[in-house]
Amino acid sequence: MKKIWLNTSLVPVKKAKVSALDRGFIYGDGVYEAVRVYQGKIFRPEGHWKRLDGSLKSIHMKIPWSHKFLTEVCRKTAQANGLKEALVRVTISRGVGELGYDPSTAKHPTLTGIATPVRQDLPELWEKGVKVAIVKVRRNHVKSLSPAIKHTNSLNGILAKIEALKSHAFEGVFLNLDGYLAEGTISNIFIVKRGVLKTPSLSCGILDGVTRHALIELAKKIGIRVLETEIHEKEVFSADEVFLTSTTMEAMPVTQVNSQKIRDGRPGPVTKTLQRAFRALVERELGIRV
Ligand code: PLP
Repeated sequence: MKKIWLNTSLVPVKKAKVSALDRGFIYGDGVYEAVRVYQGKIFRPEGHWKRLDGSLKSIHMKIPWSHKFLTEVCRKTAQANGLKEALVRVTISRGVGELGYDPSTAKHPTLTGIATPVRQDLPELWEKGVKVAIVKVRRNHVKSLSPAIKHTNSLNGILAKIEALKSHAFEGVFLNLDGYLAEGTISNIFIVKRGVLKTPSLSCGILDGVTRHALIELAKKIGIRVLETEIHEKEVFSADEVFLTSTTMEAMPVTQVNSQKIRDGRPGPVTKTLQRAFRALVERELGIRV
């Protein structure tokens, strides 16, 4: 990594420093987005910025940056690091203020843009599928710290990831406090049963994923029945197919949950159809070949 966007410009990584008094550091008081750059072009930036607006509103914070500016930050940060294929994380904290939870003294939010390469083993993982672990730690409740807010209080996800890593799983999957399926630590989850696609509804306490949204749209267009609903943990084990979605993973087949194989332990036909449909959508919308 060569350069990071800091507030107004790109700076060398070594100079990209944020104050020890920044509320993002002290309280996790901030929000973020992560966009995918394909061949220098960003997939559905408006989807990300609209969700960012929602996150900001939920934490009662205003920023001086337009959607257009944020898109440019992502494009320029990827470019400055020589990355045509990248994931760019835009983090916005409430900035420096007096100590204490009252946020009113923090007048200037801090903005960073960090570009990283896309992991090289994705095609291999799409082909083989991955293992996920349903973790013991539960997703934050909607009425305490809503998972619909993409905030920088990441410990709920970090604890789940630690648990998942202990069982050598690629991703940890949360249940909500009622025991229903919620989402992965950095992904949404779908199951397929007898040709019907099911995914936890937003009311189950999940992030409204940009990829989730696109996949639901595509499935409906293809004629696949989609149900956004409560899903019991048991349904995952008896599913014909399971897959995860995220900006980086796109549609990632899940072939094992905890110690149990899903069906024959290979990516299923609906998952493969949706994977292809998603890539075709990226090509159409960005005018590229991926
Ligand atoms: N759920 C969580 C908790 C996430 O952190 C993410 C992505 O970072 C997702 C779901 C997937 O969202 P998207 O498809 O917008 O990347």
